[in-house]
Amino acid sequence: MSQPQNRPPHQPPFPMHISVEEARRSLAAMLPPLGPETVRVAEALGRTLAADLTALVSHPSATESALDGIACREADTLGASAAAPVRLKVSGESRAGVPFGGVVGPGECVRIYTGAPLPPGTDAICPVEQLQGGADDHVLLLRPASPGDVRHEGGDFRAGETVMYVGQRLTSPRLALATALGHAQVEVRRRLRVALLSTGDEVVEPGTPLMAGQVYDSNSVGLSAMLGECGCEVIWLGHAPDSPEALKGSIARAGGADVLLTSGGVSMGKYDFMRDLLIEQGRVAFWKVRMRPGGPALLGGWHGLPVFGLPGNPVSSLVVFHVIVRPALTGQPVQTLRLRAATPFRAIADKAAFWRATLVNGQVHDYRQQSSGVLRSLSDADALVLVPEGQPVQVGEEVDVILL
Ligand code: AMP
Ligand code: MG
Repeated sequence: MSQPQNRPPHQPPFPMHISVEEARRSLAAMLPPLGPETVRVAEALGRTLAADLTALVSHPSATESALDGIACREADTLGASAAAPVRLKVSGESRAGVPFGGVVGPGECVRIYTGAPLPPGTDAICPVEQLQGGADDHVLLLRPASPGDVRHEGGDFRAGETVMYVGQRLTSPRLALATALGHAQVEVRRRLRVALLSTGDEVVEPGTPLMAGQVYDSNSVGLSAMLGECGCEVIWLGHAPDSPEALKGSIARAGGADVLLTSGGVSMGKYDFMRDLLIEQGRVAFWKVRMRPGGPALLGGWHGLPVFGLPGNPVSSLVVFHVIVRPALTGQPVQTLRLRAATPFRAIADKAAFWRATLVNGQVHDYRQQSSGVLRSLSDADALVLVPEGQPVQVGEEVDVILL
């Protein structure tokens, strides 16, 4: 990030109060490029394609029926109706995996089932609901057969066609598509290795009794799960008390990670050491983002290791993860949609606000509790409503919403 020239001496030697977008870009720019590796498609959920995928086969591989009924020549059935059914001779059947062996002649048909190839000589389908006559050797059609009820060869994709692209994230439908294209393995970017450290004298591992003033380490569990959703490999460094020596000792164990995420200790308090440690051991890329919750977020480098400091407040750390960390780590933009506000949402003069909201009948409602310490607000909420700096939202207006 460029630094202003001739900075007056009272200003810190790093950018402060930057926008959410700048914070995202700044973190993304510090991450290393990820080389490719080959994995089984079935194990590639959440990974990012490192190479385009070309269809090895066509789908459908032959023109086939879209429903159960009979296949015949459309011309034979024109004018068919309940009052004047058309009679066709049944010459056999075509089912998925077992095509009809012969050619269907005029006045003939074959029974056909969904996904079965259309036999030579036929060009239309009449669904079973429009047939009469249970006898094996003939059927009566109550309406004309339709050439629209077929799926054409290669109508989904053709062999040789490039269908999936570098940079696409492998969602479950995409895993199914890659398999249908004929791939059992795919080239994906290797996982980003993310070291995770919780800080705070009061922070305690779950499963142990709480002493007065202590709090369970909920951040590391929430963040670790979100990192997993992003396809990252998590290197858990445990938690460090609020002392520069302990923090240095923990961070020294992050070797091999591509980036370190910390929670807590990035604010203005006497026991918030992260910023000064980064100044001492490397550099600060920025401190404080114009957002709420999550304002005190910090980015720097520790002897070449990018370090992103999340605020300790549980809601802040998870919201910062959603709007800055996840998009930077995955390269995928934050997905927003426009929804109508059923309640007003207040604005903050110089900060983008990400208010927790519930969704009722497609409209967003302000969640009653917006304190960054109230973890239930995030767990109960369906969405974050993005209120731009200084622009309050009135009832009935459309807002940008991030679904949780
Ligand atoms: P800090 O950012 O260190 O000033 O912490 C702000 C608030 O977040 C304090 O109330 C902390 O107790 C709480 N907190 C810090 N780290 C965690 C954590 N890992 N899990 C849950 N709460 C935390
Ligand atoms: Mg703390």
